[in-house]
Amino acid sequence: MAYKILVLKGDGIGPEVVGEALQVLKVIARRSAVNMDFKEAHIGGHAIDQFGTPMPEDTLKIAQDSDAILLGAVGGPKWDNPGAAVRPEQALLGLRKALGLFANMRPVRAVKELIGASPLKPEIIGTVDLVVIRELTGGIYYGQPSEKRQHGDQREAVDTCFYDEAEIVRVLRFAFELARNRRKKVTSVDKANVLATSRLWREIAAEIARDFKDVAFENQLVDSMAMHLLRRPKDFDVVVTENMFGDILTDEASVLAGSMGLLPSASLGEELNSAGFRVGLYEPIHGSAPDIAGRDEANPLAAILSAAMLLEHSLGMRAEAEIIEQAVDGVVKDGHRTRDLAGGSGTKTVGCKAMGRLVREKIESLDA
Ligand code: NAD
Repeated sequence: MAYKILVLKGDGIGPEVVGEALQVLKVIARRSAVNMDFKEAHIGGHAIDQFGTPMPEDTLKIAQDSDAILLGAVGGPKWDNPGAAVRPEQALLGLRKALGLFANMRPVRAVKELIGASPLKPEIIGTVDLVVIRELTGGIYYGQPSEKRQHGDQREAVDTCFYDEAEIVRVLRFAFELARNRRKKVTSVDKANVLATSRLWREIAAEIARDFKDVAFENQLVDSMAMHLLRRPKDFDVVVTENMFGDILTDEASVLAGSMGLLPSASLGEELNSAGFRVGLYEPIHGSAPDIAGRDEANPLAAILSAAMLLEHSLGMRAEAEIIEQAVDGVVKDGHRTRDLAGGSGTKTVGCKAMGRLVREKIESLDA
């Protein structure tokens, strides 16, 4: 049996960084004697150019038949007109919806050698190792009505924040289960002093916490959490929150690591794949970086770490995921840096391809 992995390289630097991540997965597959069947398909801006849609039917069909999906990024100036009827990011919303991916997971881990790349003081960053779980398919981004309209001689607009119990329960359970395999602490973030959806969220969080007595639990209001994340990030393990708060806090948390080129993400649903794990979509948190596309300057580490998350969460290959993480840490420790991280004595600037090759060589040496 072979695991079916869909590779969606996307636009801009997507093909460059995912190309390196794919080669890393092939090394792992060979060394662990696990069959992985990689299929590639079109998504995003270049799919609009070729097929008139950012998500061709074929792509969606293969995605629905896959155990996991590795994605680069979509978009670029050519397709950026917000008034256009078809836009690259519609493909991402379509994928999430079609696969029921309700939990977005973004780990943020400080790498000692790169602490200087963060705008925060080294003593604050220290040993940061947290993960933010953002609810991905509900809340104010999806509630109806959502519209701009005319009211007498005034323009007005409305958005609706809606959550039902099942949507809240599944993402909170996901966070508690994840915490059990980490440092056993969950911080649930809401705005329960103002919003009804947050009060329901907090009520349900307390109920679920009772089922996870081995996991420490706390609530935080989103406004104070925005501050705590920068003042004392080391105190957090698993942070879980609703869609819009998560959108904002995940970007804030990414600053802790110093560069977007280092941060992976996973979006997971309830559906289980042929390996008995969750079907997931794995992608670096950065965009398509059109300013550096095609110049062999992109940092492939976030894409490579996304491939590591794919192994752990969709194929149950945690040991192999750890080998990739160790290899990435090792290459950085050896002083290799892509341009986004460049600087510091004893470091050497390398391109995207060289960085990918160094990680693969490190894996071979660690795994031997
Ligand atoms: P971006 O993340 O693409 O780039 C921001 C800055 O970070 C740029 O200077 C870029 O060169 C740099 N950068 C990003 N990733 C890097 C990497 N791996 N290595 C080195 N440097 C890196 O964000 P943006 O400029 O706001 O967006 C560019 C395009 O990407 C837009 O069309 C946007 O819509 C799209 N986008 C897509 C996704 C996605 O597909 N999930 C996410 C964000 C943005």
